[in-house]
Amino acid sequence: FPVENIRNFSIIAHVDHGKSTLADRLLEITGTIPKVPQNQQVLDRLQVERERGITVKAQTASLIHTHNGQSYLLNLIDTPGHVDFHYEVSRSLAACQGVLLLVDANQGVQAQTVANFTLALESDLAIVPVINKIDLKAAQPEVVAHQMNSIFGISTDEILKISAKKGTGVWDILTAVIERIPPPKADASQPMKALLFDSWYDQYRGVIANIAVGDGVITKGEKVVCMSSKKVYEVHEIGFMHPTPLAVEALYAGQVGYIITNMRNTEEAQIGDTFCHERSDVQAHPGFRPAKAMVFAGLFPSDQSEFVALRSAVERLTLNDSSVSLHSDSSPALGQGFRMGFLGLLHLDVFCQRLEQEFNTSFIVTSPNVPFKVKVKGAKNIKEHGGSEVTILNPCHMPNPSVIEEYQEPMVKGTIICPDQYLGSVTSLCLDRRGLIEDQLNIDNTRIMLIIRFPLNEILVDFFDDLKSVTSGYASFDYEDAGYEISSLVKVDFMLNGSVVDELAMICHTTRARDTARRVCEKLRETIPRQQFGIIVQGAVRSKILAREDIRPFRKDVTAKCYGGDISRKTKLLKRQAEGKKKMRKIGNIDVPKDAFIKVLKR
Ligand code: GDP
Ligand code: MG
Repeated sequence: FPVENIRNFSIIAHVDHGKSTLADRLLEITGTIPKVPQNQQVLDRLQVERERGITVKAQTASLIHTHNGQSYLLNLIDTPGHVDFHYEVSRSLAACQGVLLLVDANQGVQAQTVANFTLALESDLAIVPVINKIDLKAAQPEVVAHQMNSIFGISTDEILKISAKKGTGVWDILTAVIERIPPPKADASQPMKALLFDSWYDQYRGVIANIAVGDGVITKGEKVVCMSSKKVYEVHEIGFMHPTPLAVEALYAGQVGYIITNMRNTEEAQIGDTFCHERSDVQAHPGFRPAKAMVFAGLFPSDQSEFVALRSAVERLTLNDSSVSLHSDSSPALGQGFRMGFLGLLHLDVFCQRLEQEFNTSFIVTSPNVPFKVKVKGAKNIKEHGGSEVTILNPCHMPNPSVIEEYQEPMVKGTIICPDQYLGSVTSLCLDRRGLIEDQLNIDNTRIMLIIRFPLNEILVDFFDDLKSVTSGYASFDYEDAGYEISSLVKVDFMLNGSVVDELAMICHTTRARDTARRVCEKLRETIPRQQFGIIVQGAVRSKILAREDIRPFRKDVTAKCYGGDISRKTKLLKRQAEGKKKMRKIGNIDVPKDAFIKVLKR
């Protein structure tokens, strides 16, 4: 294929607007896959993707299409639409010259439509606007076209109207891809350079990397250099995703495909890296902003004896997801485990679901938190913390307040789109989450878009659910990283009869301290069994007590239940109680069952 006959494009949209369905249709009408009724989200290969109906990993597929008597190679890169996977979207876009911007004819422009449009615009890509689902009874293609015009400045007669489900208008999509999206700027006669834009680990074949060949030719059997590490690899196999791997002898300038080398793990396959030939002086791709973990949680085996199994599962899973960060961690109550960092909450959910389904492990995930930062003062303290700025991943590592000069918390810029009748309730929900409304605009006469600055910590738990419930499900939400801001934070400690329980420490905004203290104390009162003496449960900031609960003494006579003299039942019960004791942790002289910690710490 000459470069003029190659198109590299992606489909971007809000979640559920029909990307994967459109991809299925494009694969069918180009004869890439047979047309059978059961084709559903063919590119979504992971079980979690099929179950949740979302795309997590971007996938590519090469299609061949004849237009005006000429044969074209169309490389489709399916992208995830959800907020947490922006990172995947932006690197997929680096391999494209254009995008199909898909909008649901009934739902209209949503928060992630805006975010994805912005990404495409910043990457200088040709944008083909498409309204999907025109077959729906409630479809309002004219209203949606008007929204796209008013928000994005897209002229309404550029917009294609299709039904991906029924196949209506899908043919015109191929024509638009060829006519409106430019071919890649690539030259087969120049020295080889190829961008590595995705990679994953296959149990049988090792590391498979997706590449977009900029210039030159990359051939099976030859040696290539990874520009960042200068390491040399041999090309074992090279090919197209059609949509399953189809090996060929070489990939040429402008083409997108996969490569298998003797790389051992995905860490060697750095996303954004450039491949070239030895002794070549080509310019490397500028690379991508590294994915930043924003949500941290502890991960522990349900039973300590399963730690090794959990560790190997976690290590295998992270091989395929370089955006998860992993540190070992241990807790006196929960044992040996991990502290893991994720891009966002959905990312955390998806990770846990995969861990469960693909590895059949049983584990506990603690309530997530964000990476707070503090500035410490005094030369000695700065030296001790390895710098004046300290990032706190685990609340019990927070320096003593007396050496802290400044507290900072991560912020996000949120976008909410909803019908304007909900403006009042959405505004009050946002204010309640310490949000600052920065902008508000009318998309048309029934819908509004709000731009709000939030502390990330405030939207981690239940925010999206609450937003959906105050808007009867009509609001959409997306957010992006907005750096750090000075804040007023405190560490809340919990005590049982005066002994501090380290693993329960929590960091929160000053205004949230009392609520947090109350909530946790109540939970502890419910979960710690009565003992032979009274227990005072307290939540405190420094020495100031914010909440207190009392657990009254109680003499638990387990054998009382066994009337009659069945001695074997009695011994059984006593034995069970003794086993239960092993799962206890002693705080001072108090036995706290592991379950109590789990109930308080778990998500
Ligand atoms: P994605 O999240 O953007 O990949 O969206 P999917 O392709 O998974 O589609 C989400 C849902 O919308 C699925 O239930 C599809 O069957 C449905 N859908 C997609 N396209 C159409 C369409 O043109 N018409 C109708 N009625 N439903 C569609
Ligand atoms: Mg999808």
